[in-house]
Amino acid sequence: MSDCLVIGGGVIGMMSARTLVMAGASVTLLDQRECGKESSWAGGGIISPLYPWHYDDLTNELSFASQLVYADLCLQIFEDTGIDAQYLKSGLLMMDEYDLPLAIQWINKYNIYYQHHADGVLFANIAQVRNPRLLKALKVDILNKGVNIIEHIQANDLLIKDNQVIGVKTKNKDYFAQDVIVCSGAWSSKLLRLTDEVFPMKGQMIVLKSTKDVVENIVLDQGRYIIPRADGRILVGSTMENVGFDGRIDIGVQKLLHEFAYQRFPALLNAKIEYQWSGFRPASLSGKVILGKHEQFEHLLINTGHFSNGLNMAPASADKIKQLIINA
Ligand SMILES: Cc1cc2nc3c(=O)[nH]c(=O)nc-3n(C[C@H](O)[C@H](O)[C@H](O)COP(=O)(O)OP(=O)(O)OC[C@H]3O[C@@H](n4cnc5c(N)ncnc54)[C@H](O)[C@@H]3O)c2cc1C
Repeated sequence: MSDCLVIGGGVIGMMSARTLVMAGASVTLLDQRECGKESSWAGGGIISPLYPWHYDDLTNELSFASQLVYADLCLQIFEDTGIDAQYLKSGLLMMDEYDLPLAIQWINKYNIYYQHHADGVLFANIAQVRNPRLLKALKVDILNKGVNIIEHIQANDLLIKDNQVIGVKTKNKDYFAQDVIVCSGAWSSKLLRLTDEVFPMKGQMIVLKSTKDVVENIVLDQGRYIIPRADGRILVGSTMENVGFDGRIDIGVQKLLHEFAYQRFPALLNAKIEYQWSGFRPASLSGKVILGKHEQFEHLLINTGHFSNGLNMAPASADKIKQLIINA
């Protein structure tokens, strides 16, 4: 029996496992597939909400708290694993909405640093990570720190005794723990019995092969964005599709995203489209992160519903879970 059983090995589950094992807990993590292959892999890795004024205070606070630690966290994990998550303060150029009253209110409320730019405003402190690399590094890091990772095992149901969660059922075996933490992304509702449902919001993206000098900053306009990676590759995203767990990609979206990119940077017209993919953001009916103790069952904690912001909120969300368990 472990102290903590984490269900789901995306960025949320692995960062939760990391903070718990570092606080001295014995941790087992189950993933129905492989760690770090779902939404956390599919994301863009921008360490900020897009149009943050549309989000609630909790999302903003978790994002700001995470932004403060991300650079050091990536450096520490690099030192410990040799894998560079490529944290890069590339800044974000916002071409629309920045002059809305709501945006100005947000800038003043949180005292946000920005610069005027010919095409909009530049939030120079916004960074990105190469999320697939961060996930690879996190997996190695938590294994080295002693987390027992068990992949290709699906938690099918909670084990409950006298209103307390004591573990989970899987096909062949029951796993027991002092505390169970559900970090199952878009699949979380299958396990949890919550009033606030979690459901998948599909997003498609493409990556273009380009050179380093074409795009300098992350660019955001009309809900779509362009992310320049350190090696010159350029990600373009993304869609919001409420279609259940249908992960198919389509050529129409590919064209749309490519067009969005080369209309702003004509040099990208002939750039090779290397790959297109999709992922399922964990959306919640309330539109809010679901983070904390379960409303009904004891020893059940939840860390999900991060929607478009799981990569940027992960460190602070994980820390909150640790505080709830270790300081209980
Ligand atoms: C196209 C796109 C772009 C995005 N861009 C950004 C961005 O730039 N910045 C940002 O912050 N966020 C971004 N996001 C959102 C971000 O990716 C998610 O919020 C985040 O990855 C959620 O992490 P997670 O660990 O909860 O989910 P996931 O990464 O999906 O992980 C959940 C894990 O749980 C496992 N699992 C599920 N059910 C079970 C079960 N019953 N038993 C065992 N294992 C289970 C799954 O196999 C999976 O590995 C983007 C998302 C998409 C799709």
